[in-house]
Amino acid sequence: MTQKITIAIDGFSSTGKSTIAKQLAKKLGYIYVDTGAMYRAVTLYAMQHNYISDTHFNTNDLITDLKNISLHFVFNNNLGFAEIFLNNTNVEAKIRTIEVSRLVSKIATVSEVRKKLVLEQQEMGKNKGIVMDGRDIGTVVFPDAELKLFMTASANKRATRRYKELLDRGDKVSYQEILHNVQERDRIDSTRNDSPLTLTNDAIEFDNSNMGLEDQFERIMTLVKMRLG
Ligand code: C5P
Repeated sequence: MTQKITIAIDGFSSTGKSTIAKQLAKKLGYIYVDTGAMYRAVTLYAMQHNYISDTHFNTNDLITDLKNISLHFVFNNNLGFAEIFLNNTNVEAKIRTIEVSRLVSKIATVSEVRKKLVLEQQEMGKNKGIVMDGRDIGTVVFPDAELKLFMTASANKRATRRYKELLDRGDKVSYQEILHNVQERDRIDSTRNDSPLTLTNDAIEFDNSNMGLEDQFERIMTLVKMRLG
């Protein structure tokens, strides 16, 4: 397979986008980029600088400081995926906490933040051979992507997945808190003015509430092969 394509995966929170994206990238020898990690890293920075908390959001100070935020990914051979670095510090673990999850969708409504991250994402994908997941990949980042997928699953299934992930990490969270967070992020992500999460006609929808990972992967690989000709 010498020809390379761009695969855009969008969808609701905790629909297993990153699991499937990582598998696809491995199988195809493509780069995988988790754009949610980039929004999470900016959120962590904003929290560390006291621009945002549960009770306030100083948008202008964050916007002024955006030029000082530098993000990059480094592939970790042991983990099999790239970890994110914020100003040269590995923040992969810190960005997955419930505190970051609670605030990230507010940060993601800011157009200046989106503009910066979208440009970086487009640069990473300029040579194709990339699987990118997020909320606006097929609509804004790579509107010409050869394959666009849109993942959904019931809110309960998604909250259960995320709850298990956090428990495995040793985080103290309640199922109700996770369910609320997943639903609230979906609401904000789908209704924001700039680049809302939307299912477009050219994307293929996958409801994986009752679909096993292998089945899903097989179906998506069939679509990839069709695109590759
Ligand atoms: O993918 P993940 O759930 O880690 O994304 C965290 C949040 O980042 C999303 O809920 C959304 O608010 C924001 N996001 C976004 N656009 C993307 C990726 C993530 O707005 N392309």
